Amino acid sequence: MQLTSFWPVLCVAASLSVCPQEGAQNAPPQEEVLTRALPVLPTTPSLGGDYGGCSQGLDSKGKAKCVKKALKKTWKAAQKKGQRVFLEFWSGKEAITNQWRACGYEVLSFDTLTNPAFDLVDEKVQAVVMRYLRRGRISAVFQGTPCSSWSTARHGRPPPLRDRKEGIYGLPNLSKADAERVRLGNATMKATAKIIRACEEAKVPVMLENPINSMLWAAPEVMACREAPSYLQNHGDYCQHGAKWRKRTRFATWCVPFKIEALCKLCKGKKGFCSRSGKKHVLLNFKPGEKFKVFRTRKADKYPKSVAKAAAKALADAATA
Ligand SMILES: [Zn+2]
Repeated sequence: MQLTSFWPVLCVAASLSVCPQEGAQNAPPQEEVLTRALPVLPTTPSLGGDYGGCSQGLDSKGKAKCVKKALKKTWKAAQKKGQRVFLEFWSGKEAITNQWRACGYEVLSFDTLTNPAFDLVDEKVQAVVMRYLRRGRISAVFQGTPCSSWSTARHGRPPPLRDRKEGIYGLPNLSKADAERVRLGNATMKATAKIIRACEEAKVPVMLENPINSMLWAAPEVMACREAPSYLQNHGDYCQHGAKWRKRTRFATWCVPFKIEALCKLCKGKKGFCSRSGKKHVLLNFKPGEKFKVFRTRKADKYPKSVAKAAAKALADAATA
């Protein structure tokens, strides 16, 4: 009950700081916005787990059917509020989703770890998403494509999986497990690029987040996307948002017609010290024998809250501009 009573307060704060309302171009004076923002309608819950019979072991057709059902449900809920649907791909902990939901937006998040049917590598699933994009039913898309197999943090042991030249799609003589990692990495990269191209065509704002030194940026399919006229890039360090590591990151956007200042904060510290905290940065690269750093890189996958907030806000602003 207590949560219910706090909810409108939280949402007013969120609507002021994160997301504009749809149709903001005809925005009434501030006081009126505040009044209308109360109460924010509840959003559809997270679709993780066994949602509507979407369990493990589905074939391509079954996965597409599940995604279609979930998208339809989310679209109908959005329509009732005069909105369109927000999408977070490879959503992990749903950091961006949570920001959008706090503003009352209808969001569908995709991550096979949460729901195996939401498999963006699958062509039939892609086709369902593309249809929604083309029909103008999507507000914006955030892509947190996994960077693991594209990482330059691997030196010596574990060995690198790619290089920036002929080996961009994978080095020869990889172990069976590494070859599988590379295959999956190539498939997610190609799906990412395909979605960006579809967003560009449909003029839907889209953001791709990856470490600045991730080899994903050098993949030919992603390079081609970066040639697009609406492409912009924002570079920032996670330490400037309170993380212990610097992790310089590129937030690439398409159809977002402005720079995102909040995502362009760079550390000015020297000799490994952080200009924000004054402490030494925690290193995320691998060194032989330091297995625990695998854990650190995974932990660093989580976005600092102010990063998630800035990314969610920028996409919402671009969608309602
Ligand atoms: Zn720093």
